[in-house]
Amino acid sequence: MNTGFYSHPLFLEHDTGSHPENAERLIAIRNRLESERILENLELRPGRQATSGEIAMLHNETLFDEVRQASEEGMRTLHSPDCIVSEKTFSAALQAVGSVLEAVEEVSEQRLDNAFCAVRPPGHHAERDQAMGFCFFNSIALAAEYLTRRLGYRRVLIFDFDVHHGNGTQHLFEERDDVFFVSTHQDPRSCYPGTGYARETGRGPGSGFTRNLPLPPWTEDAAYLDQVEHQLLPLLIEYAPDFILVSAGFDAHRDDPLASLNLTERAF
Ligand SMILES: [Zn+2]
Repeated sequence: MNTGFYSHPLFLEHDTGSHPENAERLIAIRNRLESERILENLELRPGRQATSGEIAMLHNETLFDEVRQASEEGMRTLHSPDCIVSEKTFSAALQAVGSVLEAVEEVSEQRLDNAFCAVRPPGHHAERDQAMGFCFFNSIALAAEYLTRRLGYRRVLIFDFDVHHGNGTQHLFEERDDVFFVSTHQDPRSCYPGTGYARETGRGPGSGFTRNLPLPPWTEDAAYLDQVEHQLLPLLIEYAPDFILVSAGFDAHRDDPLASLNLTERAF
C-alpha cells in the first residue's frame, strides 16, 4: 500500500494560541507516527498552495479576500470569535486546500493508493461566503468539487466522522447528486453547530444524497459501530462511490475536551 502523508511547516504557523485546535495536534500525530515507525513507510509530501481560482470553485471571491486581508492586516479573528487569525493563517489555509487537491489528484492518477492530509486550519464548517468554527476554506468540499469538475468523477462520497456536523460541506452539495455527504456527529441539540438533523436529507436533485446520523451524548464504541454497520454501510454500498473522501476529525474521542461522545481508538 502506497500511502501519502501530507504535512507542511506552514500548518504549525497558523497560530491559535491556547485554543484546543492548535499546532500541537499535528505535532502529536507526527510524533506518534514516528515512534510507531509508521512514518518511514509513508510517502511524505509537502503539498502545494491552492490558487484563487481553485478556492473560487466553491467560495465567493470576497471570502478569499477577507481571509487574505485578515492575515495581512493583523486582525485577530474573522467572522466569528472562534476563527482565530494570525499572520500565516491565509498561507496555511491555501496550503491545506492545495494539499488535499494534490492528494486526490495523486490518488486519481494512481501514483498513491490513498493519502492522509494532516493539515490545518480545518475546513468542514466553512460556508460559501463565511469562515466558521475554526475553518476558513472548505478543503474537503473543494476536493470533491475538483474530482467532479476537473477530473470527471460522478459519484464522490464524503464520510465526515468529526463529532461536529460538517455544515459547510453539506450546504455546498445538498442540491447535487454527484457528491453524497454522510455524517456521524453528536446530536445537534447538544453540540455545535446545531445542524445535522436526520431530517436533513438533501434538496431538489440532491434529495437522498445527504445522510445525517446524529448520536446522543456519551455514545460509546459498540453503539457507534452498530449504527455505522447497519445504517451507513448498506447506503454506501448501494451508492457505489468512485472516490471516497473522509473528514477525519477525531474529536468524538472520549478524551476530547470539545464534545461529549465517548469513542475510543477501537471505533476509529
Ligand atoms: Zn470537530
